[in-house]
Amino acid sequence: MSKAIQAVRGMNDCLPSETNIWQMVEATLRRVASNYGFSEIRMPIVESTALFKRSIGEVTDIVEKEMYTFDDRNGDSLTLRPEGTASCVRAGNQHGLLYNQEQRLWYMGPMFRHERPQKGRYRQFHQFGIEAFGIATPDIDAEVIMLSARLWRELGINDVVTLELNTLGSNEERAEYRDALVAYLTEHEEKLDEDSKRRMHTNPLRVLDSKNPEVQAALVNAPKLSEYLGEESREHFASLCQRLEAAGIDYVINERLVRGLDYYNRTVFEWVTTSLGAQGTVCAGGRYDGLVEQLGGKGTSGFGFALGIERLVLLLTSLEKVNNVRPQVDVYVAMLGDGVDIKANQLAEMWRDEVPEARIQCHCGGGNFKKQMKRADKSAASIAIILGEDEIAQQVATVKYLRERKEQISVPFDQVPSLLEELIN
Ligand code: ATP
Ligand code: MG
Repeated sequence: MSKAIQAVRGMNDCLPSETNIWQMVEATLRRVASNYGFSEIRMPIVESTALFKRSIGEVTDIVEKEMYTFDDRNGDSLTLRPEGTASCVRAGNQHGLLYNQEQRLWYMGPMFRHERPQKGRYRQFHQFGIEAFGIATPDIDAEVIMLSARLWRELGINDVVTLELNTLGSNEERAEYRDALVAYLTEHEEKLDEDSKRRMHTNPLRVLDSKNPEVQAALVNAPKLSEYLGEESREHFASLCQRLEAAGIDYVINERLVRGLDYYNRTVFEWVTTSLGAQGTVCAGGRYDGLVEQLGGKGTSGFGFALGIERLVLLLTSLEKVNNVRPQVDVYVAMLGDGVDIKANQLAEMWRDEVPEARIQCHCGGGNFKKQMKRADKSAASIAIILGEDEIAQQVATVKYLRERKEQISVPFDQVPSLLEELIN
């Protein structure tokens, strides 16, 4: 026998036993996005490499070491998208959606980063993202964060996630701060690790979110970004905080939160959890007022976030929040006796016509009652409808409850649709 080929490391199959929870999560994301007037946009998975270099920044982890980049047959450098915002802005510019307009967009799909695979970190993973264009005021920052908070409530994980918030100020304020920070880091260089020494010259703000406790200790007296903010940046942030308080959304200000990507300004935020181990960030985003112009469009504000769907699914599973996810099959139709199968299929078709939401699986492949009941049990259906020659003659279905301690009942065929309605609602 030849050796079986395996999936690429870090790229996962999503099996039928998991797809129902994925579908529940995806449906919630779609519904909540539309609750706030956001429309879906779908972008290609492959883009020109230059798009990500220009937007994410040359000296970020993603561009330095995580991208799946290759030359296609024409010799053009292409990249499997590592995130969605750059593509979304590219599409918006290309189709004239952004200039002098407001757009509220969402996207969902696979992203690719060549990272070390571990729990919550994969090479193909899935993001849901929200991007709001054309609004410079903090009301949209607040509304997008409220949208994210509603997601956690709807999914039942609001108790285990915390909102961390910071402001990076304007580009000028950040540049001034960067100089002060580099001066401080240079003075304390001997206390930094190799990574931070390198970042000090390429992307010094990233030193602030170093995970190394020694580096963190060396930063205790470092200058603070908040001391470099001008009036407008302070007001923007204060207004956002006030709006979140009015909406009853708790937050903590984390001055070390700078985010990995180059394009953020003013508001940045993350939703973090302690229930997932090292990969604790479920959702991250902020304001990116310069990005549209940086990618060749006319200046337009932007605010958005991306969340990792695998991390949400892991969180829901670990909290055992998946019990109420509807199984893939509601009803299993078992059939016994000569010619009953054809009649059973006709009835099932009729019930599917009448109750389009019902998931009805008819037994196929013959076999005795025991075998059919085994299949019914495995299907996770909540009831079995059993049809034999007597049932067909009397026009009644025998209904057996598979998950509850309830007596078997007989239901006239024409009342089966209302039983199904009751079952799925
Ligand atoms: P991290 O600090 O965990 O590496 P990040 O800052 O690189 O995250 P973003 O680029 O902001 O992440 O992406 C937004 C979200 O996408 C993350 O908060 C996370 O939930 C998810 N995510 C990012 N990278 C991965 C990955 N390799 N595997 C699974 N999910 C991921
Ligand atoms: Mg990362």
